[in-house]
Amino acid sequence: VVHAGAWDVPPAEREAHRAACVAAVHAGWDVLRGGGRAVDAVQTAVMSLEDDPAINAGRGSVLNRDGDVELDAALMDGGPLRIGAVACVRNVANPVRLAAELLGEVEVFLVGEGASAFARACGLALCDPASLVVARERTRLASWREAAARTTEGPGDTVGAVALDVDGHLAAGTSTGGRPGKPPGRVGDAPLPGCGYFADDDLGAAVCTGWGEHIVRAGLARRTAELLRESTAQDASWLAMRELEFRLNGRAGVIALSPNGSIGFAFNTPAMPVAYIDADLAEPVVGGIPRA
Ligand code: ASP
Repeated sequence: VVHAGAWDVPPAEREAHRAACVAAVHAGWDVLRGGGRAVDAVQTAVMSLEDDPAINAGRGSVLNRDGDVELDAALMDGGPLRIGAVACVRNVANPVRLAAELLGEVEVFLVGEGASAFARACGLALCDPASLVVARERTRLASWREAAARTTEGPGDTVGAVALDVDGHLAAGTSTGGRPGKPPGRVGDAPLPGCGYFADDDLGAAVCTGWGEHIVRAGLARRTAELLRESTAQDASWLAMRELEFRLNGRAGVIALSPNGSIGFAFNTPAMPVAYIDADLAEPVVGGIPRA
């Protein structure tokens, strides 16, 4: 199951979002169908979305207040409960790939310069930060700077994925440029375990998107996974969103997967492009994008 961010998707960008989600599901599904691990499928799906400049992850990410891209990403392997997370990375085009390198380390979370140094040590290619910036986001930042009420500008187009493999292992992953116009150094939910993502083979997997500060305060991904103890993935997703709205007036979305393969997603934003596939489906199902 993949998503491409909870917020609004302008009509002109809907087809690009639909296509990006379908391509990511195909990429992840190819891994699972070949007997691959859930964590590898999630990484593959998220990288496919990071590589798409239409999406707020990797190249094409939103810009911070100073006009720079700062990337956050994470992966969680629900079998051994391993985590790899990075934040405020400026020179890695696929931060989820860097997060994957951390899965085998003692440390679970690296930020900024330290994360870049780790990328170098792993032999990952570093990129010119300017190569991650696209014209669409420069224009968006310029209107954000002109807007009277800057804090009302929401996030959007963040990406995430959850997967269940043939051995019953679950995984979750995220990647984002964060919120447009964010202060440098700001970190949202996406790289924080239990907030933006969570996977535990015994409980389930969940990935969140939307207004990160609300998601962090609610511990939304872990909460969704706990609800999976007694609910289907669809019910758990809705219940978690209702709680977020009731307690914090939060705006977000969640995708969820239970250990038995039940799939769910819910959002209280205008849109949240989602695509999913399982062994019973011939083609990915797409949802969360308004038709009109
Ligand atoms: N949740 C992300 C953040 O706050 C943004 C998003 O999901 O679009 O960084």
